[in-house]
Amino acid sequence: MVNKTSYDVIIIGAGPAGLYAGRELLGKQCTDVLLLDKKAPWEHPMPCAEGVGKLGLHDAGPVAASWIRQEITTATFHAPNGSTISYTDKNGGYIINRSLLQQDIARQLIAGGITAYFSCRVNSVTPEKNGFRQVITANGTLYKGRVIIDASGPVNCFAKNEPIASNPGDLEPAYFVWVENYGITSDHIHIFAGQEIAPGGYAWIFPRGSGGANIGIVLGKKLNRRVNLRILLDKFIERNCPGARIVQRFAGSIPCGHKRSFPIALPGLIKSGDAASTVNPISRAGITEAMHSGVLAGQTAAAMLEATTERKRISCARTYERLWNKRRGNRHQKLARSKSALRKVPDADYNRGAETLSGIPLPEMTMSKIFRASLSRFPRLIWALRHLM
Ligand SMILES: Cc1cc2nc3c(=O)[nH]c(=O)nc-3n(C[C@H](O)[C@H](O)[C@H](O)COP(=O)(O)OP(=O)(O)OC[C@H]3O[C@@H](n4cnc5c(N)ncnc54)[C@H](O)[C@@H]3O)c2cc1C
Repeated sequence: MVNKTSYDVIIIGAGPAGLYAGRELLGKQCTDVLLLDKKAPWEHPMPCAEGVGKLGLHDAGPVAASWIRQEITTATFHAPNGSTISYTDKNGGYIINRSLLQQDIARQLIAGGITAYFSCRVNSVTPEKNGFRQVITANGTLYKGRVIIDASGPVNCFAKNEPIASNPGDLEPAYFVWVENYGITSDHIHIFAGQEIAPGGYAWIFPRGSGGANIGIVLGKKLNRRVNLRILLDKFIERNCPGARIVQRFAGSIPCGHKRSFPIALPGLIKSGDAASTVNPISRAGITEAMHSGVLAGQTAAAMLEATTERKRISCARTYERLWNKRRGNRHQKLARSKSALRKVPDADYNRGAETLSGIPLPEMTMSKIFRASLSRFPRLIWALRHLM
């Protein structure tokens, strides 16, 4: 039998963006969908701290209880001098099991009729000809799709010769480890700020079940070549988590650029998730962002297939960008603009801010109290803290 090579929609990437796009297409009676990934992501360690906001996750679609490793109620901020502020959010968050989540959704897609290949690296996507783009794979197979959803993460930059946003820019280096025997309280996350700890970024300790934790650092892009992240993280662990035993190490990049010269969709081609720079530029969270962007990408692909004229397809692409901007994009643009000011927040500001706020008892700590207590004295710091929570 000759393999089918022509599809209505081809999704590149079985991460949160691609899978949520696929899930959306299942409901649209558009089952002629091909999902390609260079690997089955759940068969490899997931390079991610797996922290999400509850609201963002539930708003993106149905959530299985098995995807939740643990609930998060409290975020504790550590200033460079060791002062801390704890904040209990009324909505809270989760540490999820991304491998399980992605594997479950991939299974749902396949059961719903979507064809999926998980050892299929895509090399390029050609411009549109006769209503189709071609997806060219590393082994030379060509697949034709009427709509391509590029959900392949930040580094591939497919279709870079077309007028579409393809270079995420501002790729920030991140490095993290899984540790055992750390004994972090299971419903707390910890964020550490300071020019020495994580210049231009922050360090985190997130619980990871059974006394384990995920400990990492993300730095501002400008520090990429000047700082050895592994040494910086080892020092951080030595100082803050002396009993921890490192089980595995990971490096990754987080796309935090939000300057756009081009749109994130064209007729027949939609960028989604990290490939469309949907990450929150301050918190660097991108999981639920990718899910929401994927849902919109799936809806847009279905609308493009139904559009009968080029004008209507252009309108679908524009609507996609407008809806994304309304959901998260506009807020991210604002955050991105405040980021360079945040990089300059001196350690003394963090120390004084934490000391001032630590006077408020934990049960009474609310965002408005944090703002009232600090805005006039530490405006740049508070702006940063607000979006890390
Ligand atoms: C160290 C680190 C920690 C993070 N921690 C958090 C966190 O705690 N919370 C949070 O919200 N966000 C976090 N993020 C960000 C989050 O991981 C991403 O924003 C999110 O994974 C984006 O989802 P996506 O579907 O767009 O891309 P991805 O999850 O990157 O999925 C892309 C998929 O495309 C596939 N692919 C790539 N290239 C090709 C190719 N050429 N051909 C075929 N397939 C291809 C990949 O195998 C992958 O499965 C973290 C990021 C890093 C680097």
